Amino acid sequence: MPVIKLLCTDFDGTLIDFLSHRHCAEEFSEVLLYLKRKGGVWAINTGRSFLHTLAGLEKFQAPVLPDYIITLEREIYHLSPTGEWQDFGDWNLLCRARHQEMLTQNEDALKNICQQLTLQDEVTLIHEKGVLVGLRTSTEEVMAHVASELNWACRDFPECSYQRNTIYLRFCHIDYHKGSALAELSRLTNISRQAVLAVGDNFNDISMLDGTHAVMCACPANAIEPVKQTVLSAHGFVASKDYALGVAEAVEHFLLRSG
Ligand SMILES: [Mg+2]
Repeated sequence: MPVIKLLCTDFDGTLIDFLSHRHCAEEFSEVLLYLKRKGGVWAINTGRSFLHTLAGLEKFQAPVLPDYIITLEREIYHLSPTGEWQDFGDWNLLCRARHQEMLTQNEDALKNICQQLTLQDEVTLIHEKGVLVGLRTSTEEVMAHVASELNWACRDFPECSYQRNTIYLRFCHIDYHKGSALAELSRLTNISRQAVLAVGDNFNDISMLDGTHAVMCACPANAIEPVKQTVLSAHGFVASKDYALGVAEAVEHFLLRSG
């Protein structure tokens, strides 16, 4: 029966309501401290950048820091004994190199694809250091439309993929997403997928919620419908409560199931 050795949670929309709930819910603090006492570890797996993740954690005020953070849906960091966040293994080095290569080699193609989007007026392109890295749409409905056009347009560029979350979309190498990063974290920590509980709420979480990399998966009640369907298909748990209260409910559900 499953025992949770690694709790892997998304951040925005899963632990916090971006608009209001800034602090860690007491119920989540309690399950977190319980898991830690039992020798479990906690990882945040987010689309935020490294610095934005640390800023969010400072406001969140959890009773303990996560043992690991996965940022940009792909880069893995661990907390050193001296309290510094460091690259975990050589994954980040390879990951950064492959992303840079993919974005550089496909820059013109991605620009052309974006210029041909039918709802172009509703789309703002995002550049970093002059390189096209993603886009933002005016609404989530527009994002759904843009994503389906990209699925079609990117078929000729096998390394190109994207991660989407609400109105934001980031281009990425097809091999790197929350699911593959979680698999690498499991490998590095020697924790089998049977002992991993992953929890998320949006499209960019689906790769860690389909049962492939975490046998236990869950989502809070506020998760979008495609996430709920993915979790249910993977025999996971859809909580009745929102955000961190739903995550606490999911942890309790799997702990009870394991006796
Ligand atoms: Mg989220």
